[in-house]
Amino acid sequence: MISIQMVDLKQQYLRLKPEIDAAVQRVLDSTAFIQGSSVYKFEEQLAQYTGSKHVVSCGNGTDALLAALMSLGVGTGDEVITVPFTFIATVEAIAFLGAKPVFVDVCADDFNMDIRQLEQAITPKSKAIVPVHLYGQCANMGPILDIANKHNISIIEDACQALGAVYTCSDGTEKKAGTIGTIGCTSFFPSKNLGGYGDGGALMTDNDALAEKLRAICRHGSKERYHHQYIGLNSRLDTLQAAILQVKLQHLDDFIAARQQAADFYTHALSEVKGLVLPQRVPYSTHTYHQFTIKVDANRRDALRKYLSDKQIPTAVYYPIPAHLQAAYQYLNYREGDFPVSEQLCKEVLSLPMHTEMTTEQLQFITETIVNCPL
Ligand SMILES: *Cc1c(COP(=O)(O)O)cnc(C)c1O
Repeated sequence: MISIQMVDLKQQYLRLKPEIDAAVQRVLDSTAFIQGSSVYKFEEQLAQYTGSKHVVSCGNGTDALLAALMSLGVGTGDEVITVPFTFIATVEAIAFLGAKPVFVDVCADDFNMDIRQLEQAITPKSKAIVPVHLYGQCANMGPILDIANKHNISIIEDACQALGAVYTCSDGTEKKAGTIGTIGCTSFFPSKNLGGYGDGGALMTDNDALAEKLRAICRHGSKERYHHQYIGLNSRLDTLQAAILQVKLQHLDDFIAARQQAADFYTHALSEVKGLVLPQRVPYSTHTYHQFTIKVDANRRDALRKYLSDKQIPTAVYYPIPAHLQAAYQYLNYREGDFPVSEQLCKEVLSLPMHTEMTTEQLQFITETIVNCPL
């Protein structure tokens, strides 16, 4: 019996155990649990890895989005443009500040913001655009940058699923996800590309003044202790998490390569299966395969899911309900039919097991089971 998980954190830990245990022990010995030296070293190492001038760590990816919006002064009366087909945190951070989330639908094939619909969403109240690099592949940032520059609007990238993805600009320059817009946000939730052993997040920016403000916002709005310049947050990366992330950052490119290999296996083995649409690759971004998400006919998707689950193959639906139809956001008065592509994708997407420890045996079993599915 092959045991398969959506994300296998245990096998990865066992592989890295000596390094991780030593790093954790060093923090325990230091007892510098808050803002210990690992936090600053990790920020520097992540800045180096991403090519971002500044990295400010924080408590989680949601807080990163919140702090980014706060640093731009987003609040009541403002509009922030994003997509309805995302994890709710993207929208939640906007709404939490009293700003209005304005949605632009996504593309049916690459799941990211449909840039053809972006400009018409801009109004004099628009303060920021928050593109999401869903499932690990960058949104079409070139046109988003052009439109944002033309209207003098900031871009906050939700790179929570795409840390390590490489975006190729129109002039050929390569940039890492999260370093293309004004501010980039990422998450170290355990299942993410670079996952800690608890919550964590970070902000990236090349802007010196914004970096300083973001750092203050995440520390109670304070640059100097007990002097509070902004209404801030208590949002810090624990030293223990930073020490673990320092170890794991050294393996991030290998982690991504392992995900890409698993994705290649899926792609080869499933390309001929009728009724499945495999993830589309875009020319301007690498894919880190935070998720390997296929599309299945809406009337077959749940049956395939059940069939796989009966064979002990877990799958997941990211996401079953688009943000504009969630109960908490009914006050925005969006209706079913407003963002038809996102709504349809919620009925069609199915994410297959994807992590850094997938074996050929597991991949063979999963793909053979799908190929032989009688449904
Ligand atoms: C995970 C995630 C977040 C939030 O990150 P947390 O660390 O869980 O707060 C935000 N946006 C997207 C797209 C995510 O996948």
